[in-house]
Amino acid sequence: MIEEQPQCPFCRRFMPEWGTPLPVKACDICDRPLFLFPSLLRKRRLNILSAIDVAKVTMLPIVGGATVSFGMGGLDPDQFAAVVAGALLAWGMIDVWDGTAGIKTEFDRVKKQVKRGSAARKMSIAKTIFGLSSIVLGSIGLLMVG
Ligand SMILES: [Zn+2]
Repeated sequence: MIEEQPQCPFCRRFMPEWGTPLPVKACDICDRPLFLFPSLLRKRRLNILSAIDVAKVTMLPIVGGATVSFGMGGLDPDQFAAVVAGALLAWGMIDVWDGTAGIKTEFDRVKKQVKRGSAARKMSIAKTIFGLSSIVLGSIGLLMVG
């Protein structure tokens, strides 16, 4: 069986091997959480997804959907505020996770740009601070509506 060398979707570096029987692991190089997605079309291909990216992508339709229902009168302001606060909280936790992993490994990525060294470190510190403030804002929001 020829296995493709696993490539981290976050930092785009190749790992020597997946190295664990579990479908979830942190990248050897950038420490971001990754998981294996079963490939139906190409059995030998490792489909690796970055948990951080997937979480961010899945949150957009949730917030978008809540905004649309609120606009159409399907949600009252309290319910809408709870969704936004919850999303802020979740987004903040992802950013802190991403940021602290970046500070540790000096690997960072913004959109498709992978950065290394001090530039990555600065960006990761910014992400961590931004994430922490989102967590604070989200928690205040949830306490106020709850
Ligand atoms: Zn990586």
